Amino acid sequence: MNELQTMIRLVERRAKTIFTPTKLPDTSYTINQYVGCGHACLYCYAKFMCKWKQHGEWGSWVEVKVNAPELVKLKHPAGNVYMSSVSDPYQPIEKELQLTRRVLLNMDKSVHLSVQTKSNLILRDIDVLPSMGLAVN
Ligand code: SF4
Repeated sequence: MNELQTMIRLVERRAKTIFTPTKLPDTSYTINQYVGCGHACLYCYAKFMCKWKQHGEWGSWVEVKVNAPELVKLKHPAGNVYMSSVSDPYQPIEKELQLTRRVLLNMDKSVHLSVQTKSNLILRDIDVLPSMGLAVN
């Protein structure tokens, strides 16, 4: 575990749903298996989540939806899916947890998925991603 990871508080929770309807352009649903972000970019637009989550300053915590891979299998919506809107799906902790990888493995391969990340950890999942209609930002 690196120094950055030790400073980030992980908050595990079980979610009731995993796909959230959205009005974002060209997007039907967002998926956030993590909420919060260890990358802690100064310009991050998602800092507003601190108001709702009460876990501390942006960049100091990451919520982990531990049951996200199972939820993805349960109910899969039609339409474009954006991963993720209030986090980066490739958190430093993702290397150990493989939560995003397990979500991708369980996701319907007919979905058109957009992934936004600043981490090259996404390259680990290159074996899973090409089968989807994929856009990486
Ligand atoms: S990587 Fe994205 S979600 Fe994470 S802090 Fe930076 S802008 Fe925000």
